[in-house]
Amino acid sequence: MELLISSGRVLTGPGGECVNDGAVFVSKGGIVAVGARDEVERLAPDDVRRVSFPHGTVLPGLIDCHVHLAFDASPDPVGALREADDASLLLGMAGRAQQLLATGVTTVRDLGDRGGLSVRLRDAVAAGVLHGPRILAATAPITSPGGHCWFLGGEVSGEEAIRDQVRRNAESGADVIKVMATGGGITKGGPATWQSQFTTEELHLVVAEARRAGLPVAAHAHGTDGIAGVVAAGVNTIEHCTWMVDGGFEVRDDVVADIVAKEIHVCPAASPNWRIFAERFGKDRAEEVFGRVRWMAEQGVRLVAGTDAGVPNAVFDGFVSSLEFFEHLGLSRDRVIDMATIDAARALGIDTHTGQLTAGYRADLLVVDGDPLRDLNALRALRLVLAGGRPYGNGAVDGW
Ligand SMILES: [Zn+2]
Repeated sequence: MELLISSGRVLTGPGGECVNDGAVFVSKGGIVAVGARDEVERLAPDDVRRVSFPHGTVLPGLIDCHVHLAFDASPDPVGALREADDASLLLGMAGRAQQLLATGVTTVRDLGDRGGLSVRLRDAVAAGVLHGPRILAATAPITSPGGHCWFLGGEVSGEEAIRDQVRRNAESGADVIKVMATGGGITKGGPATWQSQFTTEELHLVVAEARRAGLPVAAHAHGTDGIAGVVAAGVNTIEHCTWMVDGGFEVRDDVVADIVAKEIHVCPAASPNWRIFAERFGKDRAEEVFGRVRWMAEQGVRLVAGTDAGVPNAVFDGFVSSLEFFEHLGLSRDRVIDMATIDAARALGIDTHTGQLTAGYRADLLVVDGDPLRDLNALRALRLVLAGGRPYGNGAVDGW
């Protein structure tokens, strides 16, 4: 299982760092060498399988920091989930995971499913039973009684129940603890999207219990109070971070300064459908909402890419569209690609072995036609996807 990939360009590092006329030598699921083509060729055995893309770019596999494989992206994903038994739900999740992989996403963080099915799927992919991206699973999000996504099974009330649920998730194999710090749009009858579901003390407890289990915490937070609470509690990532208050929006300079100082990553979870949102709400309102993400970027917040795939109209093959949102905000393309690779890997705590093309790292990589540093649309022209060294699709390495 060895492969020598040569290409017009190899994106090796952050900030758009490239090697022209480069190559990557992959063996046993890992990257053995990366750099100038003639140097890498010298390191590879004569009989190694070789593929060449003179007009292409090799880059790290994409990382979607926020998906829900258990939701089907239909107009009513909650209804669909509640009607499905676990067996059919798991099959749907496997199909959606493959859709992500087919679009170049080699790692996903699943931020909430039912019954720990994402752990089952993760393990099946890792064992080679199924093709799919590597999955980091949150299992049931911690939520208040009747709170956001209560139907996923993580309702808690009081300190003891919070501790128990974090422990249950850890014991069931979760890679990350998800807490719903505020309400959310898809949960009918729950707290309003801006409303806090937990006190700051309770959020501290979630983080402390997760740390005891050696796990990071991802916090869903739309409301400004909830954002302040999760920042004080010291979570690892904040999801959405839309700065909502009753009847409007309110950003806080002191809180954003803490987000930066504590090196908390923010995943705005920009839907692949963001252009439709802009049309529906009108240009001014949309630009106001988008402007708060731009403001966070300007304040030095570490933003990472994610789609919230699975919620209404957030499709599983739209990651590139979601990246184009950040380009629309005015972020440079090399930064946008970092947000979906090296920065995402840092946010998820997996940057010691994926997120960039480096010897010794997992062979999570893509080959695309053209140059995504000039046009993100090139990311749609996939020629090859390797996840952990395993090729997906019928691309250039058929029969490998
Ligand atoms: Zn979500």
